[in-house]
Amino acid sequence: MRIVLLGAPGSGKGTQAKLLAEKFKLPQISTGDMLREAVAEATPLGRQAKVAMEAGQLVSDEVVLGIIHERIARPDARSGFILDGFPRNLQQAEALDQLLGGLGLSLNLALLVAVDVDALIQRLVGRRTCLNCGQMYNVFYAPPHMDGRCDECGGRLRHRSDDNEETIGNRLRVYETQTLPVLDYYKEHEKLRTVQGVGEIADIFSAIMRIVESVRASVKKEARRSDAIRAAIAKHSATHKKAEKKTAAKKKAGGAAAGKKAAAKKAAGKTVKKAAVKKAAASKVKAKAVKKKTAKKSAVKKKPAVKKAAGGKKKAVVKKKAAVKKKTVGKKKTVSKKKAVVKKKTVSKKKTVSKKKAAGKKAPARKPVRKTAATKKKKSTARKR
Ligand code: AMP
Repeated sequence: MRIVLLGAPGSGKGTQAKLLAEKFKLPQISTGDMLREAVAEATPLGRQAKVAMEAGQLVSDEVVLGIIHERIARPDARSGFILDGFPRNLQQAEALDQLLGGLGLSLNLALLVAVDVDALIQRLVGRRTCLNCGQMYNVFYAPPHMDGRCDECGGRLRHRSDDNEETIGNRLRVYETQTLPVLDYYKEHEKLRTVQGVGEIADIFSAIMRIVESVRASVKKEARRSDAIRAAIAKHSATHKKAEKKTAAKKKAGGAAAGKKAAAKKAAGKTVKKAAVKKAAASKVKAKAVKKKTAKKSAVKKKPAVKKAAGGKKKAVVKKKAAVKKKTVGKKKTVSKKKAVVKKKTVSKKKTVSKKKAAGKKAPARKPVRKTAATKKKKSTARKR
C-alpha cells in the first residue's frame, strides 16, 4: 500500500502514520522528521532547511523532492510506504505521481485527518515528543505520567521549537494557502478519503483502518483483474503464435499443391466463364430466332384478312365454275341421254329393219331417216357445245 497522510500541523497525522506503518510493516516516511534530523546533524541539507523550518515556512521543493526521491528508492519502500507531511503543495503532489509512475507504481490512498483550527492550536502548543522513541504527548489532554519523561521508554520529552504560537500561526497559513489545493488534486484523482481526527487516538486509528482496508481490498481486486487480463493476453498471444506457426507449416507443405489447385481452379473458372459466355450467346441467338419467328407469325396472322378475302373470291369463282360445270354436265347428260334415246331409237329401228330383212330374207334398202325439227335442233345444240 502506498498511502499519503494529509492534515494541518497538529492534526495528529504523524501519530496515525506511525500506527499504520507498524500495522502494515511499511516504512513511515516523514519529511518533517527527516528535515529535523538533517538540521540536528547540521548536514548541508539541514543547514539549508533550518531557516525555513524555524520560520514556519516550507522548505524548497528541490530539497524536499531530493529527500523523497532518495527515500522511496530504498528497498524497504518497494512494497509500499506511509508518507507523512508530504506532499505539502501541488508541485510536490505532481512530482510524487511522476516519481511513482516512473517506477511503474501509483498512489493508493490520500487520507486527510481533519481537525478544526482551535483544536489544532491547543494540540500544537501542548505537544511534547519523546526524543528517543518519538512517542507523543499533550500536556493539556494526554500528559505523560512523569513530567518531561516518556512513559514508554523513559526518554526525554521535547517541545518542538516551531510549536510556539507565532510559528504555529505561520504554519497554519501556509497549510491553507499551499496544502489545501493538494486535497483538491487528490479529490480529482479519486484518491482522497477523510477521517475525523478528533477523539481517542485508537478510535481515530480504527476509523482509518476501515478506510484503508476497503481501499486495500479494491486494490487487491484490481490487481487480480490486471493479472487475469495479463494472463489472458499472454494465453491469447501464445495461441496466436501457435496457430501462426501451424499455418506457416501447412502453407510450406501444401504450397505447391495449393498452387496447382489454385491454377486448376482458375482454369476451371475460366472454362466455366467461357461456357457461360457461350451459353449466353446461344441463348441470345435463340431469343433472336424466336423473336423473328414470332414476328413472322404475327405477320402471317395479319394476312388472313386479305387471304380470306382472296379465299372468298376464289371460293366464289370455284363455286361459279362448279355451277357452270354442273350445268355443263347436266346439259351433257341431257345430250347424252338424248343421244342414247336417239341411239336406242336407231338401234331399235335397225333391229326392226334386220328383223324385217330376216323376215323377208332380204332386207329392203334402208330408207334415209327423216330429220325431224326436234332432231335438228338437238343436233345443233350438241354441236355448239
Ligand atoms: P512537520 O513536522 O511535518 O510539521 O514539518 C515541520 C517543518 O518541516 C515544516 O514546517 C516545514 O518547514 C518543513 N517541511 C516538512 N515537510 C515539508 C514539505 N513536504 N515541504 C516543505 N517543507 C516541509
